[in-house]
Amino acid sequence: MKKYDVVIVGAGIAGMTAAIYAVRAGKSVLVLEETMQGGQIINTINIENWPGDMGVTGAELSQKIYQQMLELGVEMEYEKVLELNKSAEFNSEIDARDGVRACYNVKTDETEYLASAVIIATGTEPRKLSDEMMADVGKRPVSYCATCDGALYKNKTVVVVGHGNSAKHEVKYLEGICAKVYNIHHDEPIPEDAEAVFVAIGRVPNTEFLSGVVDLDDAGYVVSDESCHTSALGVFVAGDCRTKGLRQLVTAASDGSIAATEAVKYLS
Ligand SMILES: Cc1cc2nc3c(=O)[nH]c(=O)nc-3n(C[C@H](O)[C@H](O)[C@H](O)COP(=O)(O)OP(=O)(O)OC[C@H]3O[C@@H](n4cnc5c(N)ncnc54)[C@H](O)[C@@H]3O)c2cc1C
Repeated sequence: MKKYDVVIVGAGIAGMTAAIYAVRAGKSVLVLEETMQGGQIINTINIENWPGDMGVTGAELSQKIYQQMLELGVEMEYEKVLELNKSAEFNSEIDARDGVRACYNVKTDETEYLASAVIIATGTEPRKLSDEMMADVGKRPVSYCATCDGALYKNKTVVVVGHGNSAKHEVKYLEGICAKVYNIHHDEPIPEDAEAVFVAIGRVPNTEFLSGVVDLDDAGYVVSDESCHTSALGVFVAGDCRTKGLRQLVTAASDGSIAATEAVKYLS
């Protein structure tokens, strides 16, 4: 089983920033990513609040950070993490290789790794419609991203489910493309003539696999504070998947730097 000083779960802005800090501190670092680097910002076409790069796209920003990470020597595998367990070495003997204790087995959909410290940076994903609402949707296509899929419904009738800020943004965007855009609440029936359904009813943290490993709040966010420590020794958290007041790119990057710095301190 391959062993790393730091295994980072998730290659969004938080995870990639953590990787940069950890590898620059001389640690061996593996990043595990289920889909592709960049995370939830990847399809955003105009970021206006990333300092120093007005109007950068999510794809450009992600690619720059990804390249930087690889050039510094971070390893990356496209695998989904399924389980995190304390290894047999946890809290017992000093590890023979480098004097680091407390290891975790990181089990993915392909293999398993040993990590002296783990940083969770799994972000959030769009909240799905209820089963009842999906029955109402029937065979109509469902999308969670107007920017990605809106063009497929040019001059058609679509419905946006949700009434928050992101739903309003989706409605505005689709109004520029579609013939008609309905906007309904998550408990209203889908209009019969709607040909596609866009869902914007909030986001949920990607933390199911952490249940029983670290403390989660009622909504599933990893309980932490600005120190990015979790309730488990050697496990740190960064970005949108933790309890925090502002979920943005700069706070994700900031968390990444802190989580890695804390992990490095812990390892020494
Ligand atoms: C449409 C949209 C527009 C936005 N616009 C802005 C903006 O203009 N400015 C701004 O500051 N913020 C913006 N945000 C918010 C910003 O994108 C987030 O705060 C930030 O990207 C969070 O980064 P993260 O690394 O914490 O998580 P994420 O970006 O969610 O990355 C988490 C990564 O972890 C991976 N992952 C999850 N579970 C696993 C697993 N089990 N195993 C392996 N990998 C896993 C995911 O695939 C993902 O790549 C926007 C968000 C959205 C949705």
